[in-house]
Amino acid sequence: MGTSSGNSLKRTKNETIVRAYSIPIRIDEVILEFIEKYHEIAKTALQEILNTKKFTKVERKRLRDTLLENWNYAAHYVDSAINQTLGLVKSYKRKLKKGKKAREPKLKKKFVYVKSTLFGLKGSMLKITIIPREYYLEINLANYPYILLFLKEVWGGKLKLGGLFLFPNKLVLTFVKTVEYFEPRDWMSIDINLTNVTVLAGLTVYRFDTRELYHVHRVYELKRRKIQKISAWNKRLSKKLLEKYSKRERNRTKNFLHKLANKIVEIARERRMGITLEDLNSIKERVLNGSKKMNRKLSKWNARELQRLIEYKAKWLGVPVVYVNPRNSSRICPVCGGQLIPREGRLMKCSNCGLIEDRDFVAVLNLRMWGSGVTPKGLEASRASTPDERPMKTNPYGIMAVEKQRMGMKLHKITLTPP
Ligand SMILES: [Zn+2]
Repeated sequence: MGTSSGNSLKRTKNETIVRAYSIPIRIDEVILEFIEKYHEIAKTALQEILNTKKFTKVERKRLRDTLLENWNYAAHYVDSAINQTLGLVKSYKRKLKKGKKAREPKLKKKFVYVKSTLFGLKGSMLKITIIPREYYLEINLANYPYILLFLKEVWGGKLKLGGLFLFPNKLVLTFVKTVEYFEPRDWMSIDINLTNVTVLAGLTVYRFDTRELYHVHRVYELKRRKIQKISAWNKRLSKKLLEKYSKRERNRTKNFLHKLANKIVEIARERRMGITLEDLNSIKERVLNGSKKMNRKLSKWNARELQRLIEYKAKWLGVPVVYVNPRNSSRICPVCGGQLIPREGRLMKCSNCGLIEDRDFVAVLNLRMWGSGVTPKGLEASRASTPDERPMKTNPYGIMAVEKQRMGMKLHKITLTPP
């Protein structure tokens, strides 16, 4: 997550993106045993590689031959086990070399990496080789509606099914896509706050009410408090309930953030705009001035999660994303570059030109300008760089709400009126 200067915004390149999806599966004893055996050889491989000073091709062949001696399954799995552990050891040694603290790698979770040579896809039937010409694991992917959507893209040649991760109770599928980013007409900017997310796209300001997230948190906080009383006489029950409610809270929050991210990315794609996000490393002090510690923690998590989702969804659809340093995005006047002083509510007043404006709107306006490499004083230049969109007006006085929409979350669409 780096900061970008104006020039890098114009650059777009292709990228290979991988998405992983998990489906629940039931396996028989043969396959369960296979997963156990794979785990054992992977552990052996890990020890060998850790104990070998320089793991050369010769060493690799020797290890492979040893592991194959008692291996009844496809030989490719032995290679997978070696590669998997080799990757772990390499990153571990790299960290040590840099003088970083690093824990010796361990294989905790039992799973098998199934590379593409070990499975086939015919229609929606996925057939994984366990023992060549003898034992296969077959799964009909059509039974999983959300996977079917991806499958259709695989059939259409837009996606590829990548390696699989076989666990005792689930199968993780990866889909690989080469994304071609479009050349954006303009850049949309986003300001994330405790109670709202403000988006500026061309002449439109979208304000998303995020108070629901706070509400959800409050509801579960109260529930947790009640449960804690139970713990005096039933620790196990209270622990179980706490876990249940924490999970529900996380799910409700995630759902909300997914919807919000989808909506934002949709706007960007429809309007062929790139997305400018704040580099969050500096958001901690800025976002939640004066709010309580818990709120701050909560909001920081939400902000990061929302950004992660926006970037993830945007990239998948070829919408370019850049990060800019927010610096003092809500403290500098977008019109004259003067210093803004907080007034009542969320209003800010410029000490130089007298502009009075909502702080969230100031933030997105500044981010939009800085994102396109234009300093506040040089706003005129941004007009030339966005020929397809109507030029951005410098005068933010005439903001008015023209539309209120409900879409599972509150959306206030606010449009700038031309002066
Ligand atoms: Zn000013």
